[in-house]
Amino acid sequence: MIIEPTDAIIRVTAACVCGSDLWPYRGVEKLDGPAPMGHEYVGIVEEVGSQVTTIKPGQFVVGSFWASDNTCEICASGYQSGCVHRVLMGTIGTQAERARIPLADGTLVATPTMPDADLIPSLLAASDVLGTGWFAAVAAQTGPGKTVAVVGDGAVGLCAVLAARQLGAERIIAMSRHAPRQELARAFGATDIVTERGDEGVAAIKELTAGLGAHSVVEAVGTQESMTQALRSTRPGGHVGFVGVSHDVSLPGDELFMSLVHLHGGPAPVRQYLPKLIELICDRTIDPGKVFDLTLPLDQAAEGYRAMDERRAVKVLLTP
Ligand SMILES: [Zn+2]
Repeated sequence: MIIEPTDAIIRVTAACVCGSDLWPYRGVEKLDGPAPMGHEYVGIVEEVGSQVTTIKPGQFVVGSFWASDNTCEICASGYQSGCVHRVLMGTIGTQAERARIPLADGTLVATPTMPDADLIPSLLAASDVLGTGWFAAVAAQTGPGKTVAVVGDGAVGLCAVLAARQLGAERIIAMSRHAPRQELARAFGATDIVTERGDEGVAAIKELTAGLGAHSVVEAVGTQESMTQALRSTRPGGHVGFVGVSHDVSLPGDELFMSLVHLHGGPAPVRQYLPKLIELICDRTIDPGKVFDLTLPLDQAAEGYRAMDERRAVKVLLTP
């Protein structure tokens, strides 16, 4: 139902379970009773409010997990996830048949034509995991001549590998101990795999980089261990892009001071990258939809949560 004149209503074509949905699922984040879930979505516009001018009924659209006006000073600088009018989509819930999208003109990006069915998983990936992995790779200053290490082999980490490849990184080290995820990392462009974690993982990265550490490190988990591993795997002057939702992470000031490392991260401004990502997907340059290894009908969403929690699935796609 339209509430604000800037809203759109979409019929959700596909949604999914996010790694961050697992924090409340596991009880690490407390909820006060039933809550709407889901913040990743693609769909077809059914209705728009009276002030919506660019988005039209019938369009296939992709949006991100923050609704944003895309016009304020923060949006204009490319940080739509910090928009002064932002609305967190998870508070509305997109693991549903229909969803209300606030600030539709700013939030949604329409595909040029109705996409083929086989592109839908990739477009859904753009809504969060790809956009987040892309931001992490950009925040880590990935580019030609750079060695990039990725901490975390979930969907975001794997998409960061894909992004690093597209951004022209010379060497991409995926840190993973799960064979199917290693295989996907290689398919997305990883040149090396490191299976060690913690101090041993840091030592392995140093060994691969002449003792210096990586130029660019992506942190895509959000735990103390992964953040410490990322910081220590980065060479002086290097960059960490951190996008794992932080849970009780603290960094010692003296270590941070001595590291000479740039840290940049947070909730990804996915909206900034959507037009580019949609183009790369629609012309079939990239296929991030491969991160979905389980598809379930929406009414079996609970099994999707279980499968991801038990790491039986990388990422679960939900269809209405
Ligand atoms: Zn804004």
